[in-house]
Amino acid sequence: IELKQTNLAKLAGNVAVPAYVRETLVPSIVHIGVGGFFRAHQAVYLDDLLALPGNVEWGYCGVGLLAIDAAMRDAMRVQDGLYAVVERSAAGDRARIIGCIGEYLYAPDDPQAVLEKLADPGTRIVALTITEGGYYVNQGTGEFDAQHPDIVHELAHPEAPRCSFGYLAAALALRHQRGLAPFTIMSCDNLQNNGDVTRKMLLAFLALRDLELARWLATDGSFPNSMVDRITPATTDEHRALVRDSFGIIDAWPVVCEPFRQWVIEDEFPQGRPAWEKVGAQMTHDVLPYEKMKLRLLNASHQALCYIGMQLGYTFAHEAMNDPGIRALVRRMMDDEVTPLLDEVEGIDLARYKDTLIERFSNPAVRDQLARIGTEGSARIPKFVLPSVREALAKGGAIKLLAFTVACWFRYLEGHDEQGREMPLNDPYAVRLRALALQGGADAAALLSLRELFGDLSDTPAFAQAVAQALASLYGLGARGALEQIVA
Ligand code: NAD
Repeated sequence: IELKQTNLAKLAGNVAVPAYVRETLVPSIVHIGVGGFFRAHQAVYLDDLLALPGNVEWGYCGVGLLAIDAAMRDAMRVQDGLYAVVERSAAGDRARIIGCIGEYLYAPDDPQAVLEKLADPGTRIVALTITEGGYYVNQGTGEFDAQHPDIVHELAHPEAPRCSFGYLAAALALRHQRGLAPFTIMSCDNLQNNGDVTRKMLLAFLALRDLELARWLATDGSFPNSMVDRITPATTDEHRALVRDSFGIIDAWPVVCEPFRQWVIEDEFPQGRPAWEKVGAQMTHDVLPYEKMKLRLLNASHQALCYIGMQLGYTFAHEAMNDPGIRALVRRMMDDEVTPLLDEVEGIDLARYKDTLIERFSNPAVRDQLARIGTEGSARIPKFVLPSVREALAKGGAIKLLAFTVACWFRYLEGHDEQGREMPLNDPYAVRLRALALQGGADAAALLSLRELFGDLSDTPAFAQAVAQALASLYGLGARGALEQIVA
């Protein structure tokens, strides 16, 4: 059965379908970056909430800005915004249809429509999943990257926005002119202090365009921090076949994920918000301890397992975790190097949390791609791994396994494993990183000199030596030998 609004009643026998009247939803949240994660996480929370009475003032309007989003536009159009989410675990697959995206706008088709939607008085929240690299942060300095080609373009053509910041700025200018309050801007990307980072970068950008607008947003705007968690692999044809064969649904773009989900949100929504706490989200006044714990343990461990995993010929996270060497690397990095840097987190038993992470990474049903986890290392290594290195060095703690993770990334950037198999590199800095990795080989100096990624660590001898040693052993002993040595 084809997935669309008029077929929902027919599908209800096979899967759970939206238990609310979709036509009455008000798309008061605009979400930029409708990818796998948003659809498996925030959209599921709202879908749960809409099933409870009295919440129809909330719904999503999805927005895609990039050329690659044309395929999502097509899927959303033929399917009336509907799609299947399949939760996969040892207990089996559970599917449901999500209906909370009432509208989808693909910006290159009609930029004005996106601007007007953002500037609409009914738009109360603008949420973002635009990846860790989407915030124009110079990783070395932590400051706004005004030299980024997107930003250079936006400043030259403020009337014709193309990137997220350009659209936000142009829409906020319209709201300001029209005497409307700014929308709340909620980042749901994996960045520590994601709201604070969004505020700082967006205000720095606005200051270059329109100081008055920047001042207005600094005073009246709100940027709640949030911690988001649910492992969501990239959608593949295998997933489309699964949805068709197991549930009888023809869906151009389903999404599969693990059963676990978590969302901790700072409660700073002057324009109102959905009652997410009714459906399992945790509203708090301080997200930082949760976020730090999650990024330093979950996301850094993902970095630790994916690059060495690809070098050893694995495709999926659970395969890498079945390798005793990689399992030991992940566990020890968490226990010996990261845990000593974490504060107590209210309501969380850290030992139990780490056990759960190991279980989640090892879930064979999820089949999370190492290539996905290794996407955009240039943004992820500086955000997930290097902050622990800095803190550990300051406290006299160990960094051997963190440095090994960085060295594994360097080795991976070279492009081929020891068997000559290609390792896919998906990174905005791919060309430069690959060239430096090939030029440097076993010598880490060329890559380490990238100050916009490593900042002060570029010339911190203890770090440089640890990475150099690990990289030399990856080239000298091979991935297996180096891994055995480091966990011995
Ligand atoms: P995805 O590739 O499925 O979707 C990414 C979406 O973001 C696409 O719509 C893309 O067009 C858009 N996008 C990317 N870069 C952009 C930019 N610079 N400006 C505007 N839009 C941009 O990826 P995903 O799995 O949905 O992951 C997206 C982000 O979600 C991650 O980078 C991470 O911060 C967060 N996240 C993902 C997971 C996961 O398991 N997949 C878990 C937690 C958090």
